[in-house]
Amino acid sequence: MKTRNLTLVIAALCASLTLSAQAQNREIVAAAGDTYVEKQGSYTPSFRVDGKNTKVRNVILMIGDGMGVGAVNSAMYANGGELTMTNLQTVGFVRTQSADNFTTDSAASGTAYATGQKTNNGYLGVNPAKERIPDIPEILAPLGYACGVLSTDDLNGATPAAFFAHQTSRNAKEGIWADLPGSSLTFASAGTQGIFESLPVTTQDDIRRNFTVIYDPHDPAVRDSKHLLYLPETVTLDRGPYLPQTTEMAINYLKERNKKGFFLMVEGARIDKEEHSNHFPEMVCEALDFDKAIEAAIRFAEADGHTLVIISADHETGATILSKAEPENGYAQGIFASKGHTPMMVPLFAYGPRSREFSGIQENSDIANKIIAILGGKK
Ligand SMILES: [Zn+2]
Repeated sequence: MKTRNLTLVIAALCASLTLSAQAQNREIVAAAGDTYVEKQGSYTPSFRVDGKNTKVRNVILMIGDGMGVGAVNSAMYANGGELTMTNLQTVGFVRTQSADNFTTDSAASGTAYATGQKTNNGYLGVNPAKERIPDIPEILAPLGYACGVLSTDDLNGATPAAFFAHQTSRNAKEGIWADLPGSSLTFASAGTQGIFESLPVTTQDDIRRNFTVIYDPHDPAVRDSKHLLYLPETVTLDRGPYLPQTTEMAINYLKERNKKGFFLMVEGARIDKEEHSNHFPEMVCEALDFDKAIEAAIRFAEADGHTLVIISADHETGATILSKAEPENGYAQGIFASKGHTPMMVPLFAYGPRSREFSGIQENSDIANKIIAILGGKK
């Protein structure tokens, strides 16, 4: 493992401190942890085209799963007080409630981000009446846009799945993969080789008929392929710089295979998972890795001039709180007040032409509807 994750020096790993509090007769268990990180720097674009009312050809939507204000603060101050996302000038908040639950899960919020419609927890690409609803790739691909998804979750994970699958249960793993060949995606990358090989052979064959399936990003088959599925061996913390590097790969792939522009969804999936486990150092590490992927997207947007990048989260996880930091020493300390999701608004950052339309407070479903309108799609 040659990632920066190894350079992360864990000073006092999750010194399991248990505090208790009484709120509405329910016990809240808080877990705390702290970390020292080696500063990875950040990128600040020129803002030359930021917020201008000029043509948007490409949209990159970046979803930090579980990335609430606490996660962003923790990563920013641990990283010397800076992140690429917090260098941006357009900022908003997103409300995440689902159709049937005040606290959403990733399936319902992913569906809102992917379709512009709220649905019930657990549902993917279907409305509360269980009717199939079109996702952004299905709306934009017929107009000449190439569309892609990339995630550090498994491809059947709720967030990536919301952009191609239509299932009434997020746990329908084989059904979700079976929806891939009929989807409107040009590029997909997420976990993993092992999961793909565990699928029924007929599903694997159907996918191979529609996608060139590769395990190595430098596979020469990439060049002449029309639809690509890149499956890494692992997407867990030992994955190396998979997310930032594959963000660049996805951008380059989609850029060369569209008539009108592209749409790419990039998910930093494991911020949420570390918050569920109340692992503070690993959570900071995952948020910093996601920020490197954001940097790749912002650098492309800066060079391109017609790319809009939107960064937000599907929900908050862990009731994550930054309790103390020494930015000059790369030190941060945090507390979790929950092992689950919370209904708090999540932050949004945007860069590029028309970014200002994403400032203020909005619903998660509004994001998709704005993206579709900006790219000239109709629902
Ligand atoms: Zn979660």
